[in-house]
Formats: sequence, C-alpha cells, structure tokens
Amino acid sequence: MINAIESRPVAILGGGIAGLTAALHLKNHRVPFVLFESSDAVAGLMKSERDDEGYTYDCGVHFLTNRLAAAIGMSKDCQPMARYGETVHLRGRCYSYPLGLLTSPKYLTSALFAKSKSLISSSGATARQYYSSQYGSRLAEEIAIPLTEAWSGADGDEIASAVGQKFSTGLARMMMLRTAAKMTKRVIGIGYASTIVESTNSWHVYPRGGISTVCQRMADLVRGSIKLNSKVEQIRVSNDRVESIVVNGESLPVAGVISTAPVHVLPRMIRGTNALDGLEKFEYRAMIFVNLKLDGPSGLTDVVTWVPERSYPFFRLSDIGMGLPWLVPKGKSQITCDIGCKVGDEHWTMSDDGLTELCLNALEKMIPGIRQRSCGSRVVRVPLAYPIFKVAYEAKRKAWEECSGVNGLLSVGRNGEFAHLLMEDVFWRTRWKVSRFLQNMGL
Ligand SMILES: Cc1cc2nc3c(=O)[nH]c(=O)nc-3n(C[C@H](O)[C@H](O)[C@H](O)COP(=O)(O)OP(=O)(O)OC[C@H]3O[C@@H](n4cnc5c(N)ncnc54)[C@H](O)[C@@H]3O)c2cc1C
Repeated sequence: MINAIESRPVAILGGGIAGLTAALHLKNHRVPFVLFESSDAVAGLMKSERDDEGYTYDCGVHFLTNRLAAAIGMSKDCQPMARYGETVHLRGRCYSYPLGLLTSPKYLTSALFAKSKSLISSSGATARQYYSSQYGSRLAEEIAIPLTEAWSGADGDEIASAVGQKFSTGLARMMMLRTAAKMTKRVIGIGYASTIVESTNSWHVYPRGGISTVCQRMADLVRGSIKLNSKVEQIRVSNDRVESIVVNGESLPVAGVISTAPVHVLPRMIRGTNALDGLEKFEYRAMIFVNLKLDGPSGLTDVVTWVPERSYPFFRLSDIGMGLPWLVPKGKSQITCDIGCKVGDEHWTMSDDGLTELCLNALEKMIPGIRQRSCGSRVVRVPLAYPIFKVAYEAKRKAWEECSGVNGLLSVGRNGEFAHLLMEDVFWRTRWKVSRFLQNMGL
C-alpha cells in the first residue's frame, strides 16, 4: 500500500474549503496529491465579489468564526461581526426568534404542551412529526413547517426529522450563550457548529477581503498542486479499490480519491462497482439570492428575517450591512432575498429584472415605500445550495454518513457528505475524516 501511495498521488476533487482542507492535511503528512477544480478558481460556495459601488455579494450571507479564522491563520485579516439577530415576520408582525415567539400566549401554550408530551413519546420520522413534537402544532404548522417546505421544495411529510435535529441548540444553553454575547458585545455562534462544542469563546467574524479570501489563503499554501479547469469525469475501481481517475479525457493512476463533488453525481462517475447505486436519487435544492441595493436603512428589524407565509416569494431576508457594515457603501443598505427553487423552474429562468420586481412588490407589503429607495440589484443563482433530507432515502443517507463503501474513496464537505455543514464543521470534519482515511490506507 505504501508503495502505491509513493508512486501515485491522492486525487482531491474540488477546490472549496473541504478540498483545500484535505490538501493542507495531506501536505502536512507528506502525502503526494493533486487537487482538481472544475472551474477556473478556488472557493466553490465561498466565492464572493465586490462591485464598483462597494457592495459585496456572497452566495447567500456567509460569516465564519474566530476559531476557524485562527485555525487557518487569518485572525488578523478578520473583523468581528457587528450584530446578529433573527426575527420571524408573520401576518404583519415581527417576533424576535426564539424568545419573542414565546411571548405570544398561543405559541407558548402550544410549545409547553408539546414539550410535556415529548417527554413520553418519540419525535417521529418526518419533519412534520418532529416539529410538532418539539414546538407544538401551532408553531410547527404556522412557522417551522412552511419555512422548511419553502426552503426544501418538499412536503413536511416527505422530509426526514433529521433536518430539525441538526439545527437544535437547547434553550438553556442558548440563553447562557446569549447572556455571554450581551456581556462581551460579541456575536457568539449559536447553532452554528457541532464538531467542536459551542462556547463563549467562539464568535462570528468576516475577512476584510471577502469570504473567498479564506480559500485563496489556503490555496496559496498548495498552489503548485492545484489544477484549475480540470473536471474529474470518472473514478475507476478495480479489484474493489480505486485505481485511477479520468480528468479532461486523460487517465491518471491514483492511490485514492477524496471527493467533495455532490454525491448524486458519483454513481455516474464511478466505474467498476455498483456500491454507489442509489445516491443518484439524493436531491439538492437550488437557491436564488436577489441582492437589493437600497438608499438608507433597509427597514428590517434584524440581520435575518424569516418569512413563513407562502404568499411571499422568499422565505428569508438578510440585511447584510446591519451585521457586516463594511460590505455595503455608507448611507446604503442591502437586502438579500432567498428564493428556494429548482433549476429550470419559473423562478430560475426568470430574468434578473423580473426577480427584482417580484421581490420589491412583495417587500412593499412589509416595508412600505421601499421601491422608491431601490437603486439596483445583483442576482446570484446557486444550483446546489442545500441537501434535501427526504424520508425516501434517509436510510441510505445515514449509511453514507459512515463510509462510502468503496476502498480508497472518501467523500467530504457539504455536498460530499450530503449534510447541512457550515465552514467550521466542514474544516474539522474533513481533517478528522482524512486522518482516518490515511490510517486505513496504511499511512
Ligand atoms: C446560502 C448558504 C449560506 C451559507 N452561509 C454560511 C455561513 O454563514 N457560514 C458558514 O460557515 N457556512 C455557510 N454556508 C456553508 C458553506 O458555504 C459550505 O459549508 C462550504 O462552502 C462548503 O465547502 P465545500 O468545499 O464542501 O463545497 P463547495 O464549496 O461546493 O466546493 C466544491 C468544489 O468542487 C468542485 N467540483 C465539483 N465537482 C467536481 C469535479 N467532478 N471535478 C473537479 N471539481 C469539482 C466545484 O466546482 C467546487 O468548487 C452557507 C451555504 C449556503 C448554500
């Protein structure tokens, strides 16, 4: 095995944070590797751009933690987030999340009743059952389920309960972290990462040069081993182990493959085994981010506003300048409207102007007069934004969490693990998984 490693590189598929974390780990362990990125730049979902007016656009709102910044040597290049809070907009009212909702007697009674029942019964297999058992039927039916359905494009009965379990931070812990946040005046991460326990020492920051500089910094350390515009088209398995890959039509013998590609394409790429059959059914949700540029303050009450009512085209609004003021010019604001969609559907194919109009019309109902303050928009379309946890393939998803089932193939990262992972979890999980992968390969 060691001979095979010495003569052949490990192939890494993808130059997002997962692929780059794997690359740095292999470099530190002196394992030869080549990182192939199909596009012309590293960063993947962490790409960001700044326009001439001084607005920055990420693929949806992105921020990291000081812990991750420190781990990649970027503490000095990051500044702390100014503020963060979430509200829910429902029938013309704004409730702060989660405590404001609990000041409403109907939601409080429903949640308390559900909690007392959930002590004796299980939380169910579907998202609908899970949310009803955790929050009560009112909160579930009016807020949690419509939001999950808008975001995923699937019915609450089709979605696995794991979608809710992934996001939960206990109320007592949340209160403790919020109190610490108030005292320290820092935006402490709550419900952000799970690989390393959340603590009062972990707060949100953002790199001065934009979120993509995180990947650029990592790439600088392994620049000579990165091949851009290089799409891995096939992974070939022989005698039950990965033997080679095909990149841009050329075959390359490899010691192993670390893939960050979306899992549903792997069955089409792999040759010589049917161990990955079934993964092609896994679905991802596409997202459109309509970034509206505005004169003056946005009119939203906090950084994130959840909008569960189905009459609105978006399910989430973010005032990015409220949390990260340096991403918008002085005297201006920017609202990012998140629209869940399918590649090719009526929203995906709508013109940028059409989407802008759609969002402004809907926002007029929430923030009268916003149209007069509009000064343009930038639309970002992301074809694979969120893995959708469907009950139909939940068993296969859980098995996939454990291993790929193919010797010499490791799948990591958000789309590679098919998990709602944020950057910090991607980073630590990838390091841990790559270590185990190397051990299994005899290194
Ligand atoms: C809307 C949204 C908001 C988010 N907000 C936050 C946030 O605030 N904080 C946070 O920490 N995280 C956030 N995240 C999550 C974060 O973006 C991801 O966890 C992280 O970027 C995933 O990195 P990755 O390397 O796993 O995947 P990707 O970034 O998708 O990288 C995969 C790379 O592989 C390449 N590739 C694919 N197939 C091939 C192939 N066959 N050959 C070669 N290359 C290939 C792709 O081009 C891509 O560059 C957010 C995600 C979304 C969608």
